[in-house]
Amino acid sequence: MTTTLKAPPLTGKSRRLSTSPIPAVPAGEAPANAGLRTGVAAGRENHEHHATKAYGVQSATAPLTPMAIPRRAIGARDVQIEILYCGVCHSDLHTARNEWHHTVYPCVPGHEIVGRVVGVGPEVSKFHAGELAAVGCMVDACRVCPSCSAGVEQYCDQGPVLTYNSEDSHLGGVTYGGYSKAIVVDEAFVLRVSDKLNPAAVAPLLCAGITTYSPLRCWNVGPGQKVGIVGLGGLGHMGVKFARAFGAHVVLFTTSPGKAGDGRRLGAHEVVVSSDPDALNQHINSFDFILDAVSADHDVNAYLRLLKLDGTLTLVGLPEKPLDIAAFSLAGKRRRFAGSNIGGIAETQEMLDYCADHGIVADVEVIAMNQVNEAYERMLKGQVKYRFVIDLATL
Ligand code: NAP
Ligand code: ZN
Ligand code: ZN
Repeated sequence: MTTTLKAPPLTGKSRRLSTSPIPAVPAGEAPANAGLRTGVAAGRENHEHHATKAYGVQSATAPLTPMAIPRRAIGARDVQIEILYCGVCHSDLHTARNEWHHTVYPCVPGHEIVGRVVGVGPEVSKFHAGELAAVGCMVDACRVCPSCSAGVEQYCDQGPVLTYNSEDSHLGGVTYGGYSKAIVVDEAFVLRVSDKLNPAAVAPLLCAGITTYSPLRCWNVGPGQKVGIVGLGGLGHMGVKFARAFGAHVVLFTTSPGKAGDGRRLGAHEVVVSSDPDALNQHINSFDFILDAVSADHDVNAYLRLLKLDGTLTLVGLPEKPLDIAAFSLAGKRRRFAGSNIGGIAETQEMLDYCADHGIVADVEVIAMNQVNEAYERMLKGQVKYRFVIDLATL
């Protein structure tokens, strides 16, 4: 079967499409791994693709269901990975349900990918068949803009090519994520993984890990500092582990009194239940740095006023609705309110190597692929301890 691909040019910064030239199809309509089909190059290389089993959504209100997606044939610098584990990030849920208002359907989420290399292109030098490898939130970027040149591809001026729901310049349509059996990625965006660590527990490092590691490093968190982590979910629990490992005095803020024991076990020196105003008041003007990893609407001013002079609160949570910031929360103590987005490829590798050296992984609950809808509901209720990871052997 011959498919003609016509990918639109890159438009604006988001590299997102409204159409999908090679559509994903519900399982049953096209067999998975059905063999190669030929298309016409729309991007840099491109041409052949094969169907791969996946799980995705067809609309904002639909559950995740089986489908077949196209994966490109291995190009000269490509690494083909059989996916073993994929973490379930709250961003997957935001995107599947179109809470950020830019989802292209069908959508296959998943950007915390650990797998085994099963094939490499002739120009690949970093990876060999049989090795463990990982893919995080990005699969490419422009590679020439100031951000890319500085190794912070996540801030690419063209917008990085995200692992899912970004324009796919190879096959046309959008990229599809890690809720699938296999993925093909340029080696420049593939990470090395130590075989010393449990691969299922490594998977969440690819997003939750780097998204907390990067700002803690950027703001030089270390000994002598008082650091707050807001929200004990997938990101928050990694934030607690890293802030503790970097030597800071760590205070966890949680809405869930039942998580206090876990918070301490994970590394917090103190746990504050954020619904208790007296408990919050005891920390006014005292923090050097606060990392806010909350997925939903909340009062960020309650935390800004806990910063001391020149302290910084960095938001990594990405709630659907804008947050209200009171000017007086900032001006009164020359406080700073910042944001941070995942991390670059070099820093992600640094973080994975740091975790291998220090024995740091995520606390995970491994689930079968068909439990993912239930996992989304439990994640919304704050019932994950502290990251769901899909075992792709069950797909
Ligand atoms: P998660 O596992 O669901 O954790 C979110 C935590 O936020 C919950 O466990 C809960 O912690 C707290 N929370 C939830 N609803 C709340 C509410 N209404 N008020 C106050 N606290 C609430 O999510 P995640 O995967 O860690 O992701 C967190 C956020 O970061 C999401 O918005 C996600 O999209 C975003 N994210 C951003 C980046 C980036 O690069 N910036 C990367 C990945 C994810 P407690 O029970 O302890 O209160
Ligand atoms: Zn994520
Ligand atoms: Zn760039």
